[in-house]
Amino acid sequence: MNVLDPREFGRLTAEGRPCGHYDFSLYHGLRFDCACGETHDFKPWMEIVNELPLFRFIVACPDGVHLTVVKARWNRDENLRELVAEMGTALPHRRAAFMEHQQGVVGRRSDPGSEE
Ligand SMILES: [Zn+2]
Repeated sequence: MNVLDPREFGRLTAEGRPCGHYDFSLYHGLRFDCACGETHDFKPWMEIVNELPLFRFIVACPDGVHLTVVKARWNRDENLRELVAEMGTALPHRRAAFMEHQQGVVGRRSDPGSEE
């Protein structure tokens, strides 16, 4: 995965918008590579900083430092569900300002199952 400078990461994710459009419960339990170097199980209640076009979103690592852009792939016909990490960054000391910039500090997410 590309781990980018925060400024470059911010530029590449500037088209983000607050959460609320994607159904993150579809991806519950899928593993994804995180910018911190570990692999995490995705939980719908993890902090999503922003949504990006083409079913990509920015998920915050539980370590409070790393952000990762993940592309969600879901194809019912092929029984395919996966999360592909595209790039990430580390935001030591600068996370608060970045989050404010992205306006997704506590993005609204759909509760698992609430719309089923
Ligand atoms: Zn992580």
